[in-house]
Amino acid sequence: MSVKGKTAIITGSNSGIGLGIAEELARAGVNIVLNSFTDSEEDHALAKRIAKETGVDVRYIQADMSKGDQCRALIEKAGRCDILVNNAGIQHVAPIDEFPSDKWDAIIAINLTSAFHTTAAALPMMRKAGWGRVINIASAHGLTASPYKSAYVAAKHGIVGLTKVTALETAKEPITANAICPGYVLTPLVEAQIPDTMEKYGMGREEVIEKVMLERQPSKEFATTEQLGGTALFLCSDAAAQITGTTISVDGGWTAL
Ligand code: NAD
Repeated sequence: MSVKGKTAIITGSNSGIGLGIAEELARAGVNIVLNSFTDSEEDHALAKRIAKETGVDVRYIQADMSKGDQCRALIEKAGRCDILVNNAGIQHVAPIDEFPSDKWDAIIAINLTSAFHTTAAALPMMRKAGWGRVINIASAHGLTASPYKSAYVAAKHGIVGLTKVTALETAKEPITANAICPGYVLTPLVEAQIPDTMEKYGMGREEVIEKVMLERQPSKEFATTEQLGGTALFLCSDAAAQITGTTISVDGGWTAL
């Protein structure tokens, strides 16, 4: 079955990996719902630009993924959800005993709990349509850990667990649920971690990139948003119909170490 004409909702998709996935799916003929918590002219211009370039229908719907009711409202407002990509995410880096409670709560809400709410709202639509794909953007940190990232690692391990449960609850239906686990991808989220990490390790920018970030990525290359878009598109294909409840690493060998 072609993905052409299907509708994908991608949370946190006005930048980085979410945007890369949205663009790749749009190029394959999928109608797109972009999302973030902002509601700026640029957000709507982005939707127009992708629509113009690809010929598919692209809407931007503002919703704050830290709020359960807004997560559910995003799906309801979209009105249709064949492909749900739970991508919105934030990061904060600090040792556990200094980790601010409000940052912990925000990371768990945006990186994990939002996916529970969007999935709960989207599954009835997928069942009605008789087809569905849930794609959760976890991380190499959904399978391994690093110091100073307690909330992020906990949320990402959590979303891998949620993926497995979603897959089991939909196993007998034409719906799959999988998690993509990227290694480091140079996006605004990663850019924002560089100053903190420089301070923590007392290193310069290039040293942080080489010795800390890509230290565990044997390929010594960042993964790209296009590669993640291609992986998401593969998970939507017929070839992936029996792939469910699992993780796909796009991490240059990180988790093979
Ligand atoms: P990014 O900062 O470029 O994008 C994050 C997106 O989430 C943005 O669109 C932002 O607006 C949105 N967002 C943040 N808070 C939100 C909220 N409250 N409501 C709605 N949207 C919100 O970062 P990215 O690197 O593209 O990250 C995307 C996902 O990929 C995250 O879940 C991240 O954990 C994961 N990831 C990233 C990397 C990497 O190296 N960049 C690696 C592994 C996993």
